[in-house]
Amino acid sequence: MENGPLQVLTVPTAPYPDQRPGTSGLRKKVYVFQSKRNYLHNFIQSIFSSIDLPDRQGATLVVGGDGRFFSRPAIGVIVQMAAANGIGHLIIGQHGMMSTPAVSCVIRKYKAIGGIILTASHNPGGPNGDFGIKFNTANGGPAKEEVTSKIYQISRTIEEFAICPGLRVDLQTLGKQAFDLENKFKPFTVEIVDPVESYANLLRNIFDFAALKELLSGENHVNIRLDAMHGVLGPYVKRILCEELGCPANSAINCVPLEDFGGQPPDPNLMYATDLVDSMRDGQHDFGAAFDGDGDRNMILGKHGFFLTPSDSVAVIADNIFCIPYFQHTGVRGFGRSMPTSTALDRYDYENVDIDAACNMMEDLEILISDKSFVKQRFAVEDKIYQVEKADNFQYTDPVDSTITRNQGLRIIFSDGSRIIYRLGGTGAEGATVRIYIDSYERKLIFEDTQVQLAPLATIALKISQLHHRTGRNGPSLIT
Ligand code: ZN
Repeated sequence: MENGPLQVLTVPTAPYPDQRPGTSGLRKKVYVFQSKRNYLHNFIQSIFSSIDLPDRQGATLVVGGDGRFFSRPAIGVIVQMAAANGIGHLIIGQHGMMSTPAVSCVIRKYKAIGGIILTASHNPGGPNGDFGIKFNTANGGPAKEEVTSKIYQISRTIEEFAICPGLRVDLQTLGKQAFDLENKFKPFTVEIVDPVESYANLLRNIFDFAALKELLSGENHVNIRLDAMHGVLGPYVKRILCEELGCPANSAINCVPLEDFGGQPPDPNLMYATDLVDSMRDGQHDFGAAFDGDGDRNMILGKHGFFLTPSDSVAVIADNIFCIPYFQHTGVRGFGRSMPTSTALDRYDYENVDIDAACNMMEDLEILISDKSFVKQRFAVEDKIYQVEKADNFQYTDPVDSTITRNQGLRIIFSDGSRIIYRLGGTGAEGATVRIYIDSYERKLIFEDTQVQLAPLATIALKISQLHHRTGRNGPSLIT
């Protein structure tokens, strides 16, 4: 223990113009955080300052992440700044790790004011990779636009931050650590928690673990294969699926979290989850899943590596919904879907595109599709004809609290239900990502190569936007 109370300092700083958090927080190359003076401190102070002092004073805050490179020094700073900013109690996953869904669960369980998650999701890690900071609010979900824009505004005019530089936290030992501060904000405690425990408890209340155990390790059990891609989900897979539900140890691969995810982006798609894809081919396994760095995305494969789209997953769950005890108790009020993930079959990503070119393209595209004459236009590719039924700048109204999320993407819906969605994302560390989602309307699951099915729509999507011409690209960086 230190001698006497820990000193709290106010340190002058200068703002950076580029700390606008995107839909998934602030993401930059690791070297930006390492080399730009107080870059991390400024952003963390902006998060704290976005919460009114009476709300944060003595409050509980959760800290977790996917364990990527730079997480540990960042957590050290976050703890020092939380103490100096009046937070009363920090709950941190052991070794600084906790998946995004688990952080959400812990925020709600402990009625925290929110959580800070250190992750760049499926982006590459390591000294040359990306680092990211997400802020989730008291409902467990990501901060809404209103909050992120407040954080951004503060970051542009920040002049000082508060820190308790002598405070050192032990991220390894489970349990509470108390610190004596010289300011009025006391006591300050840090609690290191098992990152899996609360989340596993939640799952036990949602799913029928006895039935799952029979399915996964009973007499006629199915063989599954799970790939944690060296992200944060490794310990969750080991504890919940192997230890508790009885899957054999060799059904879980890449379950040791690594700071650089073993040199591959922790992106669960056919291109990067190669270990899973290869091992599914020979038909030994009935079901396969891979997870991204922070555990809020997955890829599901069927026997022989058959690719299940997120829309298929939702359809399968919907069809069997009352096998899930949680829904037996609560009933079903409707099916939530995040527009980009669950309607789309194919993804075309153009990464690191020049931001001006991408913004101009989106603006012109919005003007084009907003014109009345655009509706009813027909596009022919090969033997298929698609007629535009509706086109708009999609906004989402939350059915629960009626908040509106604007600029979800530009959407073109065709008369057969097929759709093209253009989205501009700032989630890459360098430049913008233009993402085109293509969803061809099929009543049955498609067992053929989906890229062949979707080729005509992709051609139309590129033609309407003139994307290749305007960005200087001749193909996407990634198709999933
Ligand atoms: Zn993620």
